[in-house]
Amino acid sequence: MRSPLSEVKGNVELKKPLVKAPTRLPLSQRRLKRRPDQMEDTLEPQKKRIRGLSTVTKIAPSRPVTSALNTVPQTQGQTTAPKVTKKTGPRCSTTITTVLKNQKPGPAVPTQKPGAATAPVLGVKRPSKRPAWDLKGQLVDLNAELRCYHEKTQTLDQENQQLREQLKETQQQATALGSKHRTLEEELTRLRVQTEHGQQELGNLKAHVLELEEQLGLKEGLVQELQKEQLELQEERRRLATRLEDQERRLQASEAALSCSQVEVASLRQETAAQAALLTERGERLHGLEMERRRLHNQLQELKGNIRVFCRVRPVLPGEPTPLSGFLQFPSGPNGPSNPPTRLSLSWSDERRSTLSGAPAPTTRHDFSFDRVFPPGSRQEEVFEEISMLVQSALDGYPVCIFAYGQTGSGKTFTMEGGLEGDPQTEGLIPRALRHLFSVAQEMSVQGWTYNFVASYVEIYNETVRDLLATRTRKGQGGECEIRRAGPGSKELTVTNARYVPVSCEKEVEALLHLAHQNRAVARTAHNERSSRSHSVFQLQIYGEHTGRGLQCMAPLSLVDLAGSERLDPGLALGQEEQKRLRETQAINSSLSTLGLVIMALSNKESHVPYRNSKLTYLLQNSLGGSAKMLMFVNISPLEENFSESLNSLRFASKVNQCVIGTAQANRK
Ligand code: ADP
Ligand code: MG
Repeated sequence: MRSPLSEVKGNVELKKPLVKAPTRLPLSQRRLKRRPDQMEDTLEPQKKRIRGLSTVTKIAPSRPVTSALNTVPQTQGQTTAPKVTKKTGPRCSTTITTVLKNQKPGPAVPTQKPGAATAPVLGVKRPSKRPAWDLKGQLVDLNAELRCYHEKTQTLDQENQQLREQLKETQQQATALGSKHRTLEEELTRLRVQTEHGQQELGNLKAHVLELEEQLGLKEGLVQELQKEQLELQEERRRLATRLEDQERRLQASEAALSCSQVEVASLRQETAAQAALLTERGERLHGLEMERRRLHNQLQELKGNIRVFCRVRPVLPGEPTPLSGFLQFPSGPNGPSNPPTRLSLSWSDERRSTLSGAPAPTTRHDFSFDRVFPPGSRQEEVFEEISMLVQSALDGYPVCIFAYGQTGSGKTFTMEGGLEGDPQTEGLIPRALRHLFSVAQEMSVQGWTYNFVASYVEIYNETVRDLLATRTRKGQGGECEIRRAGPGSKELTVTNARYVPVSCEKEVEALLHLAHQNRAVARTAHNERSSRSHSVFQLQIYGEHTGRGLQCMAPLSLVDLAGSERLDPGLALGQEEQKRLRETQAINSSLSTLGLVIMALSNKESHVPYRNSKLTYLLQNSLGGSAKMLMFVNISPLEENFSESLNSLRFASKVNQCVIGTAQANRK
C-alpha cells in the first residue's frame, strides 16, 4: 500500500516540471537580444537596395537623421526636411524603447540623443558633400534617406506588431500560468490537507504501532512461555517415546510369549480333551466304584450288624470310691488281647449273704459281650472312630440312629455331647459326627454329590416334646411341640414349633449345641436334674443329590441321649417330690421299654411295631428298622454302688445286641 506521504511526495515531484516549464519568453528575448549589427543584417537588403540605387550613397538607418541633416546647409528646400526628421527620428527611437522596456534588460539598440553628431550609422557611404548648389542631388539624397526611414519604420511596425503578438501571447501565457498557479495552489491545499490527514493517520499508525509493539511484547512473552512449554513437551515426548519403545519391546516379548503360550494352550487343550475323556471314563469308573463301595460298606455294616451295641465304662471320677479290683473286667475276646475288647465281666460278691452264713461271700460274675467295649481310659476320639463308618452310611442314604443308654451319671451326655465346652479332646460324638459329615460331603462334591443338612434338637420329658433350639425372641417357641407327619401320606416326621436349622459348618453346630445347653440349664432345678430325666434327640436331615446322574438320597441321622435308666427304690417314702419322681421314672421306663420292644419287634419282623407307644419311638420310627442302622452305647458307671443299675443296663443292652434287623436298604430314589 502506498503511504499517503509518498503519494504527496509523488504529487509534488509531478508538479515540479510544471513550474520549470520553459516559457516562450526566451524566444522573444532572443529576438529582442539582437545586436545592432544583427539589426543591420536585417536591414541589409534595404541597404543593398539603396546601394543598388546609388552605389555611392550609403544610408545608416540608426543614425539620427538630424546629424546628417545637421550637416546639410539650411536651405529653402531644407525646411520640410527637418519636419520629417523631427517626426520620424524620435518617434522611431521611442517606439523601439517602449518595446524594449517590456523585454528583459539586455543589449539594446543604442539610443542616440537627438542632436548628437555621430558618424553615419547606416554605413551608407555618404557621397561627398554635395555642393550647395546641387540641390537636386541633395534632394535625391534626402529622398533616399526618407525611403530608408520609411522602410525602417515599416520594419519597426512589423516588429512592433510581432511584439504585440508576443505580448498577447505572453499575457495568454500569464493567464494560463495564473490559472495553473491557482490549480497548483488548490493542489497544494489539497496536498496540505492530505498531509495533515496523513500526519493524523501517521499519529494513529504510531499509536497503533505502539499498541502492536505492546502486543508484540506480550506475544513474545507468550512465545517464550510456549517455547518453554514446547521444550517441556518435547522432553515429555522423548520420555514417552522411550516408554513407548520399552512398551513395544515388552509387547513384542509378550506377543512372542503369547504365541508360545498359544501353542502351549493348543497342546494343553488337546491334553485337556484327552484328560477330559479320561476323566469321564474315570468318573464312570469312580461312580461304579462308589456304588460298589456303598454296597460293600453296607454289607460290612450288615455283617457287623444293623443293630450294634457298644459298652462304655466311664472312669472313676475324682472323689469317688475306688472300686474293688476285679469288679469290672475286660476279658480278651476270642481274637486275643491285641484286638479291641468286646467283653466285659461284672463281678459281685453279696456281703450280706456272707455275713449271715459266715462263709466267704460268693462272687457272682456276669459276663457280657458286645460289638465293642470301651474301658474307662478310652478317649472320645477312639469311640468316634468306631462310629465314623455309620456316619458314612448316613451320607450313603441309610438312616442312622445312635443312642446313649445308661443310668444317670454313667457318661451318656459326655459321650454324646462331650465334656467341657471348648475342649477339643473331650468333644463328643455329635460335633465329631457332624464335622466328619461336612468333610466327607465336601470330598463327595468332587464326584458330583451336593449335600444339605438341616438340624433339630428336641427333648422328650414326661412324654412331652420341647425344642432345645428355641430362642426366646421367637414367639411360640419353647412351648410344647407335637410330632406330626410332614404331609398327608408322607413318611417324614416333623416336630411342630421346633426350629429346623440348616447347617453347613462346625461353627453353626457348636452354636446350636451351646443354645441347647443353655435351654436345658434354664429348666434345671435344684431337686430335679431335668436333663437326666429326659431324652435329648439331636436329628440331622441329610439331603444328597447327584444332578449329573439324577440321583437323590435322603436320610436322618439321630443322636439320642436317653434319660437315666435307673429305677426308683420302691421302698422309699413316697412324698410329693418322690411321687413326681416316680411318675417321671415310670414315663422314662415306659419309653425305654417301648424302645426295647420296638427293637424286638423289628428284629422278630413282627407285623406290628409299637412305635406309637412312646413319643421317643414315634419320633425315631424312621431311624429304626428296615434300612436303618442302629448303634446303642450302653454307658456304665465303674462304681460298685451302681452295680445293680449297671447290671440292668447291661442286660437291656444284651437283649438289644441279640436283635438283628433285616437287610438294610438305602433310602434311594
Ligand atoms: P449322664 O449324662 O449319663 O448323666 P454325664 O455324661 O453327665 O452322665 O457324666 C457324669 C460325669 O462323669 C460328668 O462329670 C462327666 O464329665 C463324667 N464323665 C462321664 N464319662 C466320662 C469319661 N469317659 N471320661 C471322663 N469323664 C467322664
Ligand atoms: Mg446326661
